[in-house]
Amino acid sequence: MAKKQDKSEAALLKEKLFRDPKKGVGRLSDKEISAADKFCQKYMKFLDEAKTEREAVKAAVEIAEKAGFTEYIPGKLYNPGDRVYAINRKKNIALAVIGKEGCKNGVRLAIAHVDSPRLDLKPNPLYEANDLAMFKTHYYGGIKKYQWTAIPLALHGVIALKSGKVVEVKIGEKSSEPCFCVTDLLPHLAQEQVKKPGSQMFTGEDLNVLVGSRPFKDDSESELVKLNILNLLYEEYGITEDDFLSAELELVPAHKARDMGFDRSMIGAYGHDDRVCAYPALVAAVDCDVPEKTVVTVLVDKEEIGSEGNTGMQSDFMRFFLLDMAKAEGADGNMVLSHSSCLSADVNAAFDPTYASAYEANNSSYINKGVVITKYTGHGGKYDTSDATAEYMAQIRAILDENKVLWQSGELGKVDGGGGGTIAKYVANLNMDVVDLGVPVLSMHAPLEVVSKIDVYMAYRAFFTFFNTKEK
Ligand code: MN
Ligand code: MN
Repeated sequence: MAKKQDKSEAALLKEKLFRDPKKGVGRLSDKEISAADKFCQKYMKFLDEAKTEREAVKAAVEIAEKAGFTEYIPGKLYNPGDRVYAINRKKNIALAVIGKEGCKNGVRLAIAHVDSPRLDLKPNPLYEANDLAMFKTHYYGGIKKYQWTAIPLALHGVIALKSGKVVEVKIGEKSSEPCFCVTDLLPHLAQEQVKKPGSQMFTGEDLNVLVGSRPFKDDSESELVKLNILNLLYEEYGITEDDFLSAELELVPAHKARDMGFDRSMIGAYGHDDRVCAYPALVAAVDCDVPEKTVVTVLVDKEEIGSEGNTGMQSDFMRFFLLDMAKAEGADGNMVLSHSSCLSADVNAAFDPTYASAYEANNSSYINKGVVITKYTGHGGKYDTSDATAEYMAQIRAILDENKVLWQSGELGKVDGGGGGTIAKYVANLNMDVVDLGVPVLSMHAPLEVVSKIDVYMAYRAFFTFFNTKEK
C-alpha cells in the first residue's frame, strides 16, 4: 500500500469526496463472513419450512415462542422487555418487544411480506381430459408463466370443511411423496408457439397441473381418472369435490433451498422475496433485549397482489394492534402512529450483467454489496410509491454507518423500464416515516431466486441496528 504522502492531490481528494468504490464483501473480516454463513444455514431451514404465508406465520410463532414470546392479550399493559405476538387469520403476524419508553414516543417497525408468487388452485380445479386428471390454476402475483412449466411442484395449503375442521395439505416436498407439474409443448411441435411474443406463448389458462392418469376400475362410468383422484383425496383428507371451494391450495416449486456457486456464497431458493427480509426482521426482534422504544416486526400477506384484503398491509390489523398497545399505556394512539418509524423490509432487483440494459448501473443494487436502501419504487414519474424524506434517509444511513452495516442504494431498474411497489406507501399513509430496505435478488419472482449470504446477514444487522439505536 502506498504511503499517504505518495498519493497525488487528486487521489486524496477522490478518497475524501467519492463514494468508496471498494465497499463490499471484499472488505469484510473472515469472522463476519462466517457469521453470515451461519446465519444463512438457519435461514435456509426457514425457507424450506415456510413456503406459504400460513407456514411462515407458523414458523415465526415457533421461533418466537422458543424465545419467550407469548400471545398478545388486548388491553393488557405490558412491561419493558415483555415479548408478545398477535396473529391475524393465520397469515399475518405482529411481534413486539416492549421498550423502556413503551410506545408513547412511537415504535420502531420492520414490516416484510411472507406471500410469494405461485399457482393457486381455482375453486373448482379438478377435471379430466383425454384420460388425464388435471387441476385448473389461477396464478398469484407477477410471474413469467413459462418459468412455471416442466418443473416439479408441491401442493401446500388448507381445506376448511363445513364441520369447521381444517385439513392441512403439504405434499410433494419429500422425495418419497408424489409431486406435480405443468406440462409444456415439445420443441419439435412448438414452431407456432415460439413465434408468439413471450406474454402470449403461455397463457394463464395453459397453467394446468397434471395430477393423475390411472382410472378407477369400472367399465360402465365416465371420468374414471378424475374419480380415482377424488377417491384418493377422500381417503387421505376426507374431502369431496365441493370442499375445494373452501380451500386455499397453492402450488409452489418442490425444490429445497440450496447453496449456489462453487464458493457457496449465494442461496438459490423459491420465495426469497420476501422471506429473505421476513426472516432477518423476525430474528432481529427476537434478538432484542430491552430496547428503548418498543420494536415491532410485522409479517404481512398479499403484498404480491397489491396488499389488498384483510391479511394484507392495507388492512387495519397492524394499526389496531398499535392503537391497542397505546391505549393500554394511556398514550394517544394517533401520536404513537405519527411518531413511529419503519423499515419496509423488501427486496430489490440485483443488477444482472446478462440483462444489463434493463438497469441503470449507477443506481442499481448488486449482489454482495450489502443491504439495499430503496428511497422509492413505483413506475413512470414516481407514480404509486412512497418517496422517503431526505431527513429520514439521513437518519437511516447514519445508523447503518455507525454500526458498520454494509449497505448500498438502488432503484428498481431503469426509468420507464417497468416498475413495482412495496408496502411502504401504505405505511406512509399512517403518517409514519418509512423507507424500503432489503436484500438484492437475482431472478426475482422466478421459481428459483438467488441472493447473497452476506446481504441476508446484513439485512439482519440492519434491522437489529435500527431496533436498538437511539435517535439523535
Ligand atoms: Mn417483495
Ligand atoms: Mn415480489
